[in-house]
Amino acid sequence: MDQARARLWREGDLWAIEVEIDGVPYAERDYADVASATHAIAQILRQQAARSPDLDQEECPHCDAALDLVACSQCGVAAFVRTCEHDVFTRPIRIVEGQLYCRACRP
Ligand SMILES: [Zn+2]
Ligand SMILES: [Zn+2]
Repeated sequence: MDQARARLWREGDLWAIEVEIDGVPYAERDYADVASATHAIAQILRQQAARSPDLDQEECPHCDAALDLVACSQCGVAAFVRTCEHDVFTRPIRIVEGQLYCRACRP
């Protein structure tokens, strides 16, 4: 992440946020109060700043399934991983018993 912009504004009774990271709009959501809204902005930025591109997988050599951004359910680290059924065991973040785990958090 090289650059980020966050916007916070009021929409009726709610607070809306929009976060743009490296020129890509990331999220637009509504919150009931300003504290939750600013907390969400901080969390999104922290997660993105901590995201390590080394976890990202290359596209699958066997098929043209898209990559998807998934996050570890334990530590929150995120990576682009393959969505197809090939080489499931080499995936940096994968589902174990219904939860997503990165390599470090895998049981
Ligand atoms: Zn594949
Ligand atoms: Zn993890």
